[in-house]
Amino acid sequence: MGAPTTFIRLFGCNMRCVWCDSVYTYEGKYEEIAIESIAAKAAYLGGSVLSVTGGEPFMHDELGALCDALSALNKTIKIETNGTLWQRIDAKVHITVSPKPPKYAIDDRIAKAANELKFVVDTELNEAILLRDVFRAIYDRGVAPTLQLESNKADSLARALKLQNDLLDRGVSARVLPQLHKLLNLPYISPRSQKSIS
Ligand code: SF4
Repeated sequence: MGAPTTFIRLFGCNMRCVWCDSVYTYEGKYEEIAIESIAAKAAYLGGSVLSVTGGEPFMHDELGALCDALSALNKTIKIETNGTLWQRIDAKVHITVSPKPPKYAIDDRIAKAANELKFVVDTELNEAILLRDVFRAIYDRGVAPTLQLESNKADSLARALKLQNDLLDRGVSARVLPQLHKLLNLPYISPRSQKSIS
């Protein structure tokens, strides 16, 4: 939170979460952009973090090639994924897995590669899901779960704090976080992104 970050949104998703706030990433228009052009624009925009998100990035066969091109910029590269798909990615790329309802199923290989595990606290999420073996194995590697409020709703906060407390009783220390950009009403597009690349 707080780091100047360039988001690279890849079109298409293999899921349809009821509370998805990025429907435009799998419905409507998209633009095909060469990997070299994406890397050039990311370099121009600056910032220390490049976040490859979607939609679902792992749907794209060129994801590895995109990450390789971005790695040359010497920034922190992150991928945000629902965790249902997998392909081999440079080990230096930080992978945030956000399992989605109703199944909260993730691929075994991405479970081994996950650097971060983030759950949206909706009415479906419960302690039994959070304590599944597949997730406990990730906590045991030192990756604490993040409980992110659904649209910063008050009832989501109450559920998140209860889940945090219940997990503490089981020896798991979870973080509770709001959606900061919504809380502060931050713009999605920075003034810098409006300028053309010269
Ligand atoms: S996985 Fe993400 S992008 Fe896809 S439908 Fe769910 S919230 Fe939306």
